[in-house]
Amino acid sequence: MALIVQKYGGTSVGNPERIKNVAARVASYRAKGDQVVVVVSAMSGVTDNLIKLAKEIMPLPSEREMDMLLATGEQTTIALTAIALHSIGLQATSLTGAQAGIVTDGVHTKAKIQNITPKQVHQHLDAGNVVIVAGFQGQTQEGQITTLGRGGSDLTAIALAAALKADLCQIYTDVDGVYTADPRIVKTARKLDEISYDEMLELASLGAKVMQSRSVEFAKKFGVIFEVRSSLNDNPGTIVKEETTSMEDVVIRGVSLDKNQAKVTLVGVPDKPGSASVIFKALADATINVDMIVQNISHGSGTPATDLSFTVDKPELLKARKVIDGLKNEVGYREVVADENICKLSIVGVGMRSHSGVAAKMFETLAKEQVNILMISTSEIKISVVAELGKGEQAMRAVHQAFLG
Ligand code: ADP
Ligand code: ASP
Ligand code: MG
Repeated sequence: MALIVQKYGGTSVGNPERIKNVAARVASYRAKGDQVVVVVSAMSGVTDNLIKLAKEIMPLPSEREMDMLLATGEQTTIALTAIALHSIGLQATSLTGAQAGIVTDGVHTKAKIQNITPKQVHQHLDAGNVVIVAGFQGQTQEGQITTLGRGGSDLTAIALAAALKADLCQIYTDVDGVYTADPRIVKTARKLDEISYDEMLELASLGAKVMQSRSVEFAKKFGVIFEVRSSLNDNPGTIVKEETTSMEDVVIRGVSLDKNQAKVTLVGVPDKPGSASVIFKALADATINVDMIVQNISHGSGTPATDLSFTVDKPELLKARKVIDGLKNEVGYREVVADENICKLSIVGVGMRSHSGVAAKMFETLAKEQVNILMISTSEIKISVVAELGKGEQAMRAVHQAFLG
């Protein structure tokens, strides 16, 4: 008898038929005597729709109220999944994130899990129930409902698997596993049998939304091995685990594209110590995640000044602009330019550590495609470039072709 945590994403619970399929799959594991904890997302499109509704009322709604609103999506699916299990004669109980003992900090819309006390989960499992937990949500110590950032049901599943010391953690989605690139964009992309935590983490943070990046970080920290697989068939998926020596033989594991980025440039920032510190401290205080940062000295006449560019997630652009506008007098920059018309293309692979010429090959491929590079950033196992949004998919296909065929 094994304890299995299974997470089903939005498409996998997208309509009553799909929810019945989930129930049938759970039943097949119960029939073998396994205990099953199911984590579900909101039905596909529901979270986006709720966000749209709120923004029709006000462009920057209160983050506390957004959490209150968004948590309803998952609450619908836990009940429907429990009903589907009852309909085929299985005992099942649904639990909200709070009932499952998921305690978070108070950073609304992207709360971090502080601890999990899954007392009720254990009780219901011991009583012979399938336990269905609402993904993406938790509660602060003070009882405020929070959410864990977009795609956060992945994190709920991995964190529960760690807390329950589950034997198996399966992430069911609408593709067969983790591919060398988003199979919707790159038709020649291949499914990977396995991938290291670090590579998965980079791919996920750089736009491959098949896994929420924070969930991968959590899995690495607590050593949760998990499998990404399809809820639509029985094909084996991709195992995500600690790096093995043979993984270094492959130079590039995958390519990812993030179309959800925006670039902010502060033009004419006085070139003196402290300017960058004021700007990024204010953004951090507003809990805005800044990704790439580039600073250029402008060689105009007069006092030396720099242009400072950084990227943020598109949904945070409005909030970032508000913070920057508030710093105009303190920092003394000339103007702010925001550009939503960009994307970030990245290649990832642990093999990059021991192979040279990777960046040159990527830039050469982009040059051939007439793609202008706006920003570059690298780490030991990734190279990212910012380019014009309209060229992103074409550039992704060309780079995939160059490195992965
Ligand atoms: P779920 O609702 O199950 O959480 P998501 O939509 O969040 O599913 O993630 C699955 C999607 O991720 C796929 O449909 C696919 O288009 C996209 N995707 C992006 N990059 C990759 C990749 N490298 N491998 C597999 N899927 C990817
Ligand atoms: N429903 C949430 C979202 O759409 C969480 C998830 O699907 O994982 O972001
Ligand atoms: Mg997802």
